Amino acid sequence: MRKAFRYMGYIFWDCFKAFPGLFAAIIVLNTVGVAATVLEPLLLAGILEQAAAGADGGSLGKAIVLYGGCLVCAPVVNSLFRAYFKMAGVKGEKYFGSKLVAFSGKIRLEALENPETLDKFHRANAGENSQLNFFQQAILATGNLVTCAGMLVIMGRYSPVLIFTGLLGLIPMVVLKMYFEKRLTSMRREMSPVERRCGYLRGLFSNREAVKEMRVMGFGDYLVGKWGEANEIKVQKFRETDLDIRRKQMLGILILNLFFALNIGVAFYLMAAGKVSVGAFAACLSAFIRYDGSNQVAIAMLFNMMHTYHVTEEYYDYFTIPTETDGQQAYEPFQEKITACNVRFRYDGSSEDALAGMSCEIRKGEHVVIVGENGSGKTTFSKLLTGAYLPGQGEILYDGQSTVDLNRKGLYEHISVVPQDFVRYNFSLRENVSLSDPGGPEDEAAMEECLVQVAGEEFLQKLGGIHVQLGRAFGGQELSGGEWQKVAIARGLWKKSDIIILDEPTSALDPLVEYHILTKFVEMIRNKTSVIISHRVGICRTADKIIVMKEGRVAEIGGHEELLQAGGEYARIWREQAKWYA
Ligand code: ADP
Repeated sequence: MRKAFRYMGYIFWDCFKAFPGLFAAIIVLNTVGVAATVLEPLLLAGILEQAAAGADGGSLGKAIVLYGGCLVCAPVVNSLFRAYFKMAGVKGEKYFGSKLVAFSGKIRLEALENPETLDKFHRANAGENSQLNFFQQAILATGNLVTCAGMLVIMGRYSPVLIFTGLLGLIPMVVLKMYFEKRLTSMRREMSPVERRCGYLRGLFSNREAVKEMRVMGFGDYLVGKWGEANEIKVQKFRETDLDIRRKQMLGILILNLFFALNIGVAFYLMAAGKVSVGAFAACLSAFIRYDGSNQVAIAMLFNMMHTYHVTEEYYDYFTIPTETDGQQAYEPFQEKITACNVRFRYDGSSEDALAGMSCEIRKGEHVVIVGENGSGKTTFSKLLTGAYLPGQGEILYDGQSTVDLNRKGLYEHISVVPQDFVRYNFSLRENVSLSDPGGPEDEAAMEECLVQVAGEEFLQKLGGIHVQLGRAFGGQELSGGEWQKVAIARGLWKKSDIIILDEPTSALDPLVEYHILTKFVEMIRNKTSVIISHRVGICRTADKIIVMKEGRVAEIGGHEELLQAGGEYARIWREQAKWYA
C-alpha cells in the first residue's frame, strides 16, 4: 500500500509549491461548501418541525434565511472553484513543465540511448500537470465523502437501517470501479510503445526533409499505411476497453439506484408507521438526495484519483531514471596527454561491446584523425573522450585525471564538440554561433571573421549579416545541409576551448569545399588539441597522428605515409576510397 501511493506526498507538496495562495483558498472554500451542504437538510428538518409546532415568525424567518444561504452557497463555491482551478492550472503547467525539462537536462546520456527512457519520457509528458487534476479530484472527493458521512449521520438519527442500506449500495460500485482502474492502467502501459510509434510516424509528415524524400521516392503511401496500422491497434484496444467498462458501469448505476429507492421506501415506511415526523421524513429525503449525489461524485472522484494517480506516477517515475553521476575532482587543464586505457563500453540493452579494449594517446596540441569503417566505434569513442559517456571498464585519463572522477562541468568548459548529428537551431545566425559561449563577449566582428573563415565571404553576403533568422520554422532563411554544417563548425570553433572534437565535420560538404574548409580549419585550431573523426581518409594528410579503428579497438596508429607503407587496414581503406576519385 505504501509503495502504491509513494508519490502522494509529492503531489500535494508540489501543488502547494506551484500555487500556495490558491491552494489555501481552495481548501477554505471546500470546507465552507461542505459545511453548507451538511447543514442544509438539518435546517430543513428544523424549519418543518418548527412550523408544525407553530413557532413564531421571527425564529422561523431566521432559519429560512440561513437555509436559503446554504442553498445559494453551493453554486457560488462551484463557480469560484472553477476559476481558482483554472488559475492554478496555468501556474501548475509552468511549475511541472519546468521540473520535467530541467530533469531531462540531467539524465545520464547513455540512458537516452535506451528506448525505454523515451517511453518513460512520453508517459511523463502525458502525466505532466495531472497533479493538478489529482489535487482537484482529492478536494472534491474529500468534500463529497464528508458530505456523505454527514448525510449518513442525519439519516442514522432517524433509523440505523438507513445507514446500513446506504453503505451497502456503495459496495458493487466500488468493486466495479476497481476493476475499471486496473484495466485502464494495464491498457495504458501496453499502449505506450504503440503511441510513441504513432507519434514518430506522424512526426515524419511534418518533417520537411522526410516529406520531400517520401514524395520523390514514392514511399509516402507506404508510411501512411504504417501509421494507419499503428493507429488501428491503438483504436481497437481503446474501443475494446471502453466498451467493456461502459457495459459494467451501467450495471453499477442500476444497483446504486435500486438501493436509493430502497432507502426512500424504508423512510416512507417509518413515517407511515408514525415512527418519524413529516419534518424528519423531509430531512431524510433531502439527505438521501444529497447522499446519492455526493456518493456518486465521491466514488467517481476516488477512482478518477486512482486513474490520475497512475498517470502522475508515470511523471514521478521519470525522475527515477539515473541522472549523470558527477565526479568531485575539479578538472585541471591537461598539459601532457589524454590516454585511453583498455576502454570497454556497451550500450544499454545491447549484447555487444561498442568499444572492446580501446587504448591510445592524444598529446597536447596534436591534430589527431580517427578513421575506420562505419560501426568501428569512432563516435562512441568521441563520447567517452568528452566524458559524456563513462567507460564500462578501463579509463580515459586527462594527465592522470579519470573522467569518472572529474567534475563534468569543469571538463566540458575546456572541450568543444561538433557532433555528427548537429542541430539546426531555428534562431538567428549570431545565436546559432554564440550558443557555444553563451556568457562570452559578443564581438560581432570576430564572429563575422569566424564565419568567413569557415563558410566564405559569399555566405555572409548572401544572408545579409549575422542577425538573419535561420530556418523555416519561424519564417527565417533556410540553409542547405552543407551550410548548416558550416554554421555548426563555426559554433564549435567559437567556443574558447583547448580541445575540439569534430565528428564527421564535412559529411554534408562536397569534396572541394571539404578541402577548403579543412585547410582553413587546421589554421584556426592551430593552438588547440583536435580530434577529427571521419570515415573518409582524405582528411588524414593534415593529421599529426592517425588512429585507425576496427571492431571497437585500435587497428593501427601512425602518420599518413607510415601507415600507407605498413600496408595494413589504413592502406586498404585508402586504396578503396582512392577508387572514388580515380
Ligand atoms: P562509428 O562512429 O565508427 O560508425 P559507432 O560508435 O557509431 O561507430 O558505433 C559503434 C557500434 O556501437 C556499432 O556496432 C553500433 O551499432 C553500436 N551503437 C551505436 N550507437 C548505439 C546505440 N545507441 N545503441 C546500441 N548500439 C549502438
